[in-house]
Amino acid sequence: ATFGTLSDRLTATFSALRTKGKLSPADVDGTVREIRKALLDADVALPVVKDFTAAVRERALGDEVNKALNPAQQVVQIVNDELIGILGGQQRRLQFAKNPPTVIMLAGLQGAGKTTLAGKLAQWLKADGHTPLLVACDLQRPNAVQQLQVVAEQAGVAVFAPEPGNGVGDPVRVAKDAVKHAATALHDVVIVDTAGRLGVDAELMKQAGDIRKAIDPDEVLFVIDAMIGQDAVATAKAFQEGVDFTGVVLSKLDGDARGGAALSVASVTGRPIMFASTGEGLGDFEPFYPDRMASRILDLGDILTLIEQAQKAFDEEDARKTAEKFATDSFTLEDFLVQMQQLKQMGSLKGMLGMLPGARGMREQLDNFDERELVRTEAIIQSMTLAERRMPKLLNGSRRLRIAKGSGTTVTEVNALVNRFEQAAKMMKTVAKGGVPQVPGMGPM
Ligand code: GDP
Repeated sequence: ATFGTLSDRLTATFSALRTKGKLSPADVDGTVREIRKALLDADVALPVVKDFTAAVRERALGDEVNKALNPAQQVVQIVNDELIGILGGQQRRLQFAKNPPTVIMLAGLQGAGKTTLAGKLAQWLKADGHTPLLVACDLQRPNAVQQLQVVAEQAGVAVFAPEPGNGVGDPVRVAKDAVKHAATALHDVVIVDTAGRLGVDAELMKQAGDIRKAIDPDEVLFVIDAMIGQDAVATAKAFQEGVDFTGVVLSKLDGDARGGAALSVASVTGRPIMFASTGEGLGDFEPFYPDRMASRILDLGDILTLIEQAQKAFDEEDARKTAEKFATDSFTLEDFLVQMQQLKQMGSLKGMLGMLPGARGMREQLDNFDERELVRTEAIIQSMTLAERRMPKLLNGSRRLRIAKGSGTTVTEVNALVNRFEQAAKMMKTVAKGGVPQVPGMGPM
């Protein structure tokens, strides 16, 4: 994942600390130095790194760490706080206009992911009861209008585009007409896709600026490819001066790049990161929560996002029943089987598993994760009797052997599944009761 290396290095730094009882000033200096190197290597902008490490250092040398029961954990907490800070602090939601339609304009370089985002945003808003209209104002790139039509169709929303063959077309005009059309056609949100260039240029900025003036959008979202490295800061500043924007969307967060430049954008521009795009599919999109992203980077897990995604995929009534089962300890392997079958419909299981605390440590397994694993797991559960599924305690050695044979797997695999199930059930029980799960090796968080 994008923050993979950064995350690995930070967690390695912290685990080196964990063996120490008290932290000497030299320990703190060493840790801060490691953090600084990790951030710089991840392409985080220098001024951001400087402020960040200075704040961490000051707090790590202070009383809160000195007096803490577990100083290493306290340092993780401080880094977590500061990371949330550079990511913008609080989550910022979309602002809707008092008098619809709400107008959202997208800006960014070509290839940043604007058109894809238009579809993602539309699908997301539609699921929330809105009636978005997508507007094609990228009249330069061949196929841009058609591409928007394709994502609109996937999302099941309407498109406003100039008639083909009407010459090059005037994007400012199209944008204005679209907003008018939305009001009469009862679209409560208008999403305007604009043209991008491969590099920042004056004409592009002027056009985006003109569209902005003409339609006075409620939100201008600057879409930036998380993989563009050090250029991110300069690009963001250029767009801030040229068009200005109310929020940032990080796209391609699923990529393998260092991604740290994306971490700089919020602090450098003072504009919040509002959404994250994590794949080519329209569902690969989520509101951005600074605290959850910090947790993911520090491998503290992201249980909340996981639960939300599950809620989206599962029926609410089912979810309520499941939560109840967790809370009362009556969640069985049979329920697990049903859930797994639903999970398969949720798309990237790997992505979901990656959100569990400690997932960093399972990176290799995750990378090697093979969807066939699911098939084997299903086969194992299907080879159990109903009684065994409902009462895994029944599973003694000979039963496990029978199940392994029946499912074409090994006893080791059967054991692993039962263990995983028990751990998950235990963790979910705590969550269902409103508690915070205990993570091995980290203490309560
Ligand atoms: P635009 O020029 O800004 O409109 O960018 P597009 O929406 O056309 O996206 C450019 C390319 O990036 C397309 O091939 C998209 O499928 C791809 N893309 C967009 N968002 C993401 C994302 O979050 N992750 C990945 N992996 N690819 C993306």
